[in-house]
Amino acid sequence: MPTLGVLAIQGDFAEHREVLDKLGVESAEIRLPHQLDEVDGLIIPGGESTTIVQLIDIYDFRDTLTQKVAEGLPIWGTCAGMIVISKRLTDHRPSPLGLMDIEVSRNAFGSQVHSFEADLEMGDISGPAFRGVFIRAPVVNKVGEGVRVLAQVSDGRPVAVRQDKMLATSFHPELTDDTRVHELFVRMVEGSA
Ligand code: GLN
Repeated sequence: MPTLGVLAIQGDFAEHREVLDKLGVESAEIRLPHQLDEVDGLIIPGGESTTIVQLIDIYDFRDTLTQKVAEGLPIWGTCAGMIVISKRLTDHRPSPLGLMDIEVSRNAFGSQVHSFEADLEMGDISGPAFRGVFIRAPVVNKVGEGVRVLAQVSDGRPVAVRQDKMLATSFHPELTDDTRVHELFVRMVEGSA
């Protein structure tokens, strides 16, 4: 059984851990780079990407994370986490980690008052549509060659993408009762998805 790390420097890491608890999956809050040695995968939660990146650099995570992911550590970014792991942003800030070959735009659907929910047909999970909760959500503008689009909003813009052992979602599966995206990431960590 794998242990999943949840980056716990800002944002809704507690909600991710609650879902993992519900699935009976061990998890650990990651606050310092050396703690990454003890986990089999990492979730970067939603929150404020500028703050998360600032703290990643203050706590010296950037090089360790880049190296670990290059060595095959599975990683999943939700909302702000998607922004953090992207290769490029159309925005000036923050400076993303450049892990996943996607170009992302922040706040692509407007501000907090334009938050919405949408039923998404999503690849790599089975069953009915997944109810996506979008809160000041980013969108993927461009994907590199190795990136698969798993879900799009109705205008066709990608909101869930996967590249090898990296997953990114614009929406917040940790804020719903539906555990299927967490289960997908657990399978990715186990090497069975
Ligand atoms: N808009 C936020 C950002 O740019 C992300 C919002 C979220 O994670 N819900 O970082």
